[in-house]
Amino acid sequence: MGRREGVVADAVRQGRLFGRTYQAFLDYRERNGSLREWQCERLSALLGRVLLTVPALRAHGLELAEDPFETLARLPTVTKQQIRGDYRVHFAEDIDPADCASVVTSGTTGVPLKIVHNSEHFVHVNALALRRAFDYGLPLDRKVLRPFKSEADEWFEYTVPSAGFLRFAEFGFVRDEAAIARRCHEFAPDVVFTHPSRALALRDMAPGLRPRIVQTFGEQLTDAGRAAIEEHFQAPVRDCYGTNEASTIAAQCPEFGSYHIEGERVWVEIVDDSGTPLPDGVEGDIVVTNLFNTVMPFVRYRTGDVGALSDQRCPCGREQKVLRLIAGRQHGAITLPDGTRTDVLRLVKLIERFPVERLQVVQADTTELTVLVDPAASCTDEDLRRAAEAANAALHHRLPVRLRRAGAGEFTESSAGKHLNFVSLLENR
Ligand SMILES: [Zn+2]
Repeated sequence: MGRREGVVADAVRQGRLFGRTYQAFLDYRERNGSLREWQCERLSALLGRVLLTVPALRAHGLELAEDPFETLARLPTVTKQQIRGDYRVHFAEDIDPADCASVVTSGTTGVPLKIVHNSEHFVHVNALALRRAFDYGLPLDRKVLRPFKSEADEWFEYTVPSAGFLRFAEFGFVRDEAAIARRCHEFAPDVVFTHPSRALALRDMAPGLRPRIVQTFGEQLTDAGRAAIEEHFQAPVRDCYGTNEASTIAAQCPEFGSYHIEGERVWVEIVDDSGTPLPDGVEGDIVVTNLFNTVMPFVRYRTGDVGALSDQRCPCGREQKVLRLIAGRQHGAITLPDGTRTDVLRLVKLIERFPVERLQVVQADTTELTVLVDPAASCTDEDLRRAAEAANAALHHRLPVRLRRAGAGEFTESSAGKHLNFVSLLENR
């Protein structure tokens, strides 16, 4: 199945969930009871099931206490490496494949991890995205532009029924900048939905676009980046923080800009190295529990990011706690010849789509970037040529990228022996 067919099949499959999604959206709008009551109910339902059905969790021999948070506190935190290391025991034994869909996540340490979500997860992700769209003053049938989506075709438009019949346009490799810029203007998006660095690339390629809002994700948004985007597009920037394992974890308040945790779907803790929760206001590792995914539960899952729960409420009066992201995503950044930086993760994700066993992006200077790859048995020279072409396009040809075949011994590992997908010699200077 080609990418377009895959996208369409996914849109149709998720579209069938729209009845449930819309009902969940209405329930969120007319909520009875406090957020805490919902969280208790949902955590009880989650743990009551997965402590029995998921071998990795059953192994702890816990019974659900009356206060589910008490039970949660007795479970250890879990990392992506631990899940990958013993993959199958993290799945429920009563999994119904027809109710599931998977995404592949990556990171700068190690190989990709395939994540499976159930339909209930998607229903609530989309219901809350719909609530956010209304909070941001967007219409149900909003038009969303997603520029420079690495794996996308030159231009592709489709409707996403599950998200409220929004119209989506995306483009990836750009051969004819003027033609794509023209299409962006014709599309006249309500929303530009992209990484901060790509919003700036869009500004350069298609000046004068006037969306109502720019929604960013996936990279740390700096004050300078926010100001540059807002000034150019004459529209507010609303950023969000999330992971593939949990989807959106926190999104910016429409009125005050603080990052409200999506507390209806995810329980967030800030913990120290031993997994002990830290008080509000204290920095530590961000740990999430996805309250809906019972097929591949992420319970006390370490995101790898650092932050703090604010000890102050947002003045808007919403109940959802506020998350302060400290160091942003710890993926590392590629330095371009003009001194600007771009998240390495999108490059890693892009190359992972080709048949390679392992890869490592190495930056020694700002004249060239090297990607070491250990090709899979099925990988052809043509695959590697296309991967290099895609990598160069992803950086908008601002820094030449060279792919090189490498044996296992040539990859740099961390002092703890972990795989690294990014090594920058610049950062040590
Ligand atoms: Zn607020």
